[in-house]
Formats: sequence, structure tokens, C-alpha cells
Amino acid sequence: MIAVNRFKCGYCGGCVAVCPKNAITLVETFISIDEECIDCGKCLKACPMGAMEKISYER
Ligand code: SF4
Ligand code: SF4
Repeated sequence: MIAVNRFKCGYCGGCVAVCPKNAITLVETFISIDEECIDCGKCLKACPMGAMEKISYER
């Protein structure tokens, strides 16, 4: 899944626009990514701040 580093994010909204699943929402001062995310990575490439990080959970 995708996570946002809130210390890097500039809240430009660029990632919100590129998401094909509309999984990203700019909520006041933070970015929210919901379960619709398909890990396509578009937001990772779109972010000018490098704030998007792909993370994986070990099960
Ligand atoms: S990885 Fe793709 S589907 Fe997931 S939040 Fe980013 S742009 Fe949207
Ligand atoms: S593109 Fe990057 S800096 Fe812009 S709102 Fe999204 S995570 Fe934040």
C-alpha cells in the first residue's frame, strides 16, 4: 500500500489528480489514501516532494 510522509508532503494535491481510482483525498492538512488503492504507483511518480512511499506489511 501507499503511505504519505507528512513531513515531506507539501499538500499540492498532485497525487490526488493522478490517481485512477480516486483513492487519494486531501483532507485539510493531510493526505488520505483509502482501500481503493491498487498500488499502481502513479502518485509515487507524480509527487514533487517524494512524500509518497510504498510500504508493505509482513504477514
Ligand atoms: S498507487 Fe495508484 S491507486 Fe494507489 S493511491 Fe497511488 S495513484 Fe492511487
Ligand atoms: S503530490 Fe506529494 S506533496 Fe503533493 S499532495 Fe501528494 S503527497 Fe503531498
